[in-house]
Amino acid sequence: MKRSWKAALLASAAVGALVLGGCGSDQGASGDKPQIGVAIYKFDDTFMSGVRAEIDKAAKDKAKVDIVDSQNSQPTQNEKIDLFINKKYKAIGVNVVDRTAAGVIIDKAKAANIPLVFLNREPLKEDMAKWDKVYYVGAKAEQSGEMQGKILAEYFKKHPEAYHSNDGVIHYVMITGEPGHQDAVLRTEHSIKALKNEGMKVEELASDTGMWDRVKGQEKMAAFLSRYGDKIDAVISNNDDMALGAIEALKAAGYFTNGKYIPVVGVDATTPAVQALKDGTLLGTVLNNAKKQGQAVFNLSYVLAKGETPNKDNVGFDIVDGKYIWVPYEIVTKENADKILGDK
Ligand code: BGC
Repeated sequence: MKRSWKAALLASAAVGALVLGGCGSDQGASGDKPQIGVAIYKFDDTFMSGVRAEIDKAAKDKAKVDIVDSQNSQPTQNEKIDLFINKKYKAIGVNVVDRTAAGVIIDKAKAANIPLVFLNREPLKEDMAKWDKVYYVGAKAEQSGEMQGKILAEYFKKHPEAYHSNDGVIHYVMITGEPGHQDAVLRTEHSIKALKNEGMKVEELASDTGMWDRVKGQEKMAAFLSRYGDKIDAVISNNDDMALGAIEALKAAGYFTNGKYIPVVGVDATTPAVQALKDGTLLGTVLNNAKKQGQAVFNLSYVLAKGETPNKDNVGFDIVDGKYIWVPYEIVTKENADKILGDK
């Protein structure tokens, strides 16, 4: 009790100091707006750039949101979070660089009594259980994998000629995201499980990480092509950026012209990926809803920053087990591409 009074006093003193320290003209408009900090794992990530923009948009004139780049370095992110804590921000969003570092961040925030909202990179269950003011906003990775598997199964059922070896087995290559990321692990596993559940026979020719990155996706695909060439029946990528990189490598090898085709699936439904669907290079993707995730992160942080208890009414999203907001994925193909672009 004592500590929270002290924290509140210090916080208002800090806001006062900030106002006196040069933001005088802001006083009327923003003097009572809560200050929220958000540390993104790296700004140079297509999907996270979308989420970032949505957090900003949702904050509009309700709160001051300080979004910072952790430059894919956990020590850098820890420094940024220390700064947020020192400045007595009212709530902190964390897109953690290394999921296993979440525990240390939770300990620090708990000591300062500043609620935490993790996003996109899910802390381990035991870390989430460390404190009741720790939340997670994300999407169920296994669902996106299942959807990729369904898209591919449907394609092969309709196109028996697509089995290059004529053996009724889908010989696929897998381009994975960052090792250890729940989305990389679970998408990989569940895309294949779904294919098998749909009655498909599969064989993995190769799998390698493209670290969520377009250029790396292109390099890995070029390497797969030089090793396996036309034996490859399908490309499964853990995200759209790497799928688009793979498509570049495939184009360079003569695919997507003169009827030479191979199905490629990704996840995210980024704007360039939806364009690729329309162009007929990407077969399918899965909407990883940046808009809803950004809104959920902001709404939840805002409620917490005001010292209120979050619930469906004040946040606008179901809160599962008192800690989790799950935003559903959605299959995206050429057929609903325009609708998805319109919703963005
Ligand atoms: C997205 C990737 C992104 C990663 C960042 C995933 O959910 O699908 O595109 O690079 O999150 O953590």
